[in-house]
Amino acid sequence: MDKILNYIDGKLVEPISGNYLDNYNPSTGKVYSLIPDSDKLDVNIAIQAAKTAFVSWSKTPKQERSNILMKLADTIEKYSDDLIKAESKDNGKPESLAARVDIPRAPANIRFFAGAILHDSSQIHDMDGMALNYTLRKPLGVAACISPWNLPLYLLTWKIAPALASGNTVVAKPSEVTPMTAYLLSKICIEAGLPKGVLNIVHGLGAKTGDPLTMHKDTPIISFTGGTITGKHIATVTAPMFKKVSLELGGKNPNIIFADADFDKAVSTASRAAFTNQGQICLCGSRLFVEETIYERFKKALIAKTSKLTVGDPKDPSTNLGAVVSKDHMEKILTKIKLAENLGGKVLIGGKRKIIEGNLKHGYFIEPTVIEGLSFDCDINQEEIFGPVVTLIPFKTEEEVIEMANSTKYGLAASIFTENISKGHRVAASIDSGVVWINTWLLRDLRIPFGGMKQSGVGREGGFKSLDFFTEPKNVCIKI
Ligand code: NDP
Repeated sequence: MDKILNYIDGKLVEPISGNYLDNYNPSTGKVYSLIPDSDKLDVNIAIQAAKTAFVSWSKTPKQERSNILMKLADTIEKYSDDLIKAESKDNGKPESLAARVDIPRAPANIRFFAGAILHDSSQIHDMDGMALNYTLRKPLGVAACISPWNLPLYLLTWKIAPALASGNTVVAKPSEVTPMTAYLLSKICIEAGLPKGVLNIVHGLGAKTGDPLTMHKDTPIISFTGGTITGKHIATVTAPMFKKVSLELGGKNPNIIFADADFDKAVSTASRAAFTNQGQICLCGSRLFVEETIYERFKKALIAKTSKLTVGDPKDPSTNLGAVVSKDHMEKILTKIKLAENLGGKVLIGGKRKIIEGNLKHGYFIEPTVIEGLSFDCDINQEEIFGPVVTLIPFKTEEEVIEMANSTKYGLAASIFTENISKGHRVAASIDSGVVWINTWLLRDLRIPFGGMKQSGVGREGGFKSLDFFTEPKNVCIKI
């Protein structure tokens, strides 16, 4: 059985305790590798290695850092096929999705920030010729980068790329649920010649590995993507230490379909937004608000579209939905569907675990599910489910839909479908959300400020916002 190892100070190492956790393949329900059950001791050694490496990495000229990172991106690309298969096996997602979205984004993230540092500039404030202020931006030290299981390599590289490009060193903790591609990345870093200690990856549970990482006195900067509850915990324990913290958290995203929308485009995009990656993307549109006059027609079309989606073997290129990430998560989603029915919701299609005969019969597959008849303010329409479940809610007016869309504690993303561009702009401006798409979904430009409002997060990442986050501004004033 494959044994995953920690990557510390340029070497692949066992956890000091010698303890391991089981790693499951969600499509078969079977253990297929072992994950280091790391603890404070491993974290401390990794932080020390990163601290030592910071001395030279932070002084390495930008062009040289950029060259090293570009080589890392090239080496990731060389192993794309292995990474695609590994991500799919570890997470349950279709290989076709990992090939289209997850794995290409890893080298893209690294190249983007390796290029961005060469084009960054700092500000000058001229005091009418009396004095000049200029802003220096310096890396902070060891960055703690904590990432979730839904887009494992994609989100890990989204954090480590700007952190390293700006001259910080990193200790990363991937989700223990999906550690495999981070492990493969460790091997790739060694092959690509990343200097030792610049990136360290410690695997293990949130409480045993994540806590000592975020609470350590030598991690002044923390970039976290994950659930809102974990985000609250990190904010609470780090606040007294005045750390710089970026939190990208959960969402309960509204997709709003006006009667004047391009109907077919709205149906297919809403379906993609609900079910891509088994509904396990923080940006998935899980609440579908449909204008009353087209509600019945839209509902019929969405059910028809959903009935054509194939749930099955992630290796099969015709599969649309693979397995959800774990047994616990599958049970949580199925419990939420039951709750929806108890609250008076009607399951229009799906609603059950799907058993696939053969070697996948113990896999964690769930049918794509559409539910109607729930009030906008019930638990199902307020709390994140993070599975292939979407609810349909009719609305009469623009004002009404804005109020319902804004009724949750979240504010991550929204999509609006209308052919009336003034209405599109007006509603976009009124939605409490860090990202709004009009007539599309998941169209991402790496330069934009990305993040959530309300309990979907604190701060923005992306483009120069990430470089700002991973550096500390220092003003220098010169009297003339
Ligand atoms: P979790 O919050 O459970 O975990 C995220 C990461 O934090 C994991 O690596 C986890 O480790 C770690 N962690 C857990 N406890 C602690 C702790 N006490 N200290 C430090 N780290 C800890 O989220 P999930 O992995 O379940 O991911 C799904 C969530 O992520 C959803 O809510 C989703 O909306 C959100 N998300 C947000 C995105 C955004 O950009 N806003 C993007 C993608 C996902 P372990 O796995 O070992 O518990």
